[in-house]
Amino acid sequence: MAATSGVGLSWRSSVSDRPASKSARRVSGHSSSLVKMAISVEKKPFTLEKSEETFNAAKNLMPGGVNSPVRAFKSVGGQPIVFDSVKGSKMWDIDGNEYIDYVGSWGPAIIGHADDKVNAALVEALKKGTSFGAPCVLENELAATVIDAVPSIEMVRFVNSGTEACMGVIRLARAFTGRSKILKFEGCYHGHADSFLVKAGSGVATLGLPDSPGVPSAAASLTLTAPYNDSAAVAALLELNRGEVAAIILEPVVGNAGFIPPAPGFLAELRRLTSEHGVLLIFDEVMTGFRLAYGGAQERFGVTPDLTTLGKVIGGGLPVGAYGGRRDIMEMVAPAGPVYQAGTLSGNPLAMTAGIETLRRLREPGSYEQLDRVTGELVKGLVEGGKAAGHEVCGGHVGGMFGFFFAEGPVANFEDAKKSDTAKFGRFHRGMLEEGVYLAPSQFEAGFTSLAHTAQDLEKTLEAAARVFHRI
Ligand SMILES: *Cc1c(COP(=O)(O)O)cnc(C)c1O
Repeated sequence: MAATSGVGLSWRSSVSDRPASKSARRVSGHSSSLVKMAISVEKKPFTLEKSEETFNAAKNLMPGGVNSPVRAFKSVGGQPIVFDSVKGSKMWDIDGNEYIDYVGSWGPAIIGHADDKVNAALVEALKKGTSFGAPCVLENELAATVIDAVPSIEMVRFVNSGTEACMGVIRLARAFTGRSKILKFEGCYHGHADSFLVKAGSGVATLGLPDSPGVPSAAASLTLTAPYNDSAAVAALLELNRGEVAAIILEPVVGNAGFIPPAPGFLAELRRLTSEHGVLLIFDEVMTGFRLAYGGAQERFGVTPDLTTLGKVIGGGLPVGAYGGRRDIMEMVAPAGPVYQAGTLSGNPLAMTAGIETLRRLREPGSYEQLDRVTGELVKGLVEGGKAAGHEVCGGHVGGMFGFFFAEGPVANFEDAKKSDTAKFGRFHRGMLEEGVYLAPSQFEAGFTSLAHTAQDLEKTLEAAARVFHRI
């Protein structure tokens, strides 16, 4: 295939390169769907022709056809869906199929996609320009909001992604303690910086890569790992590396190895151990921040880390990350202190606006109760539906974050998670797509609900799940 041709040409070539037999099959599939459509006019037949065409073209243009690996559906098989628009709890693909969405752009869409008030505020901000490369008042507003909300945060630095936040916070922790090693947990994902691509979850787990080529062993050797929920292993590692560990970083509720909550007392024990060893405790709340509670996992579980990273929800769907924590530590960040970290688009007015408006909506009374209730009902229904159809399933949720495994459970760490039936999950995933429900395309990702999910959405989802559970 002529992969080197221009954009338009390679798109055409990928179309004409389709095997004739495949297009013939598609045509016959389509005509039988037309018959179905005549019988039930309101329901559009499920086809993914345009998605397939676009994704095939994308594979020539971008590695794997995507700009973030899990989107390629490698672990569930089949065709990734190419989307056209989103609103509330729904997404529409370029073939015109509608889905109830439980990915929420991997977390940011907590008040629902394309919220009217957020959009209106963005339009006003847009009129004043997209980026100043200089201070703006909106930065103060979002900073004050975050400091007010998150127990550990006395000062904050905004960046453009969760990866950047985690990279920055580790440099800061090393500078503050004068130590080089960090400790993370197997299956936890903290973005794609070198020191975190050691037993990382999310896409790394999905693709089954042990680590990534390109990460120097010297960088990886400074990262110690322990099984999640195993405080005895942490105590042993801290003892063995006395005086050398700068920080322990973790997802206070894991979402990147599937959904794994902390065992009772685990977070408190980490707080005790880190204080005893002069190690900083970092909660990576890129996923859990403003998701489990307004003050994140640290509010929900009553354990205050020294430093916290944020992302996803605080950007309201625009690229934002942040790190913050104790003032004495944060004052080491440049230009207040010597620890360098910068960003051309950091704190830009559009991103700040989306964050401010999203958090404003979340502060309305009852938001988190609603998320908790909807998500609880969803998971309960999924687990009951799966069991009723004879499957081994287990699941859980905290606030608006959930997960379920095709496994007997309980799942306490990444080893347990890996024992789940991922092939069955792939079939379930595909079945749900055909039923108009969009789930994260991997067993090793958490799911998310939003304030826009209705009782009707839930009902439709659980009815669809019941049908799919019976046919997989
Ligand atoms: C998503 C995520 C990151 C990375 O954030 P990006 O914005 O994708 O770089 C880091 N940590 C956790 C816990 C995450 O869920």
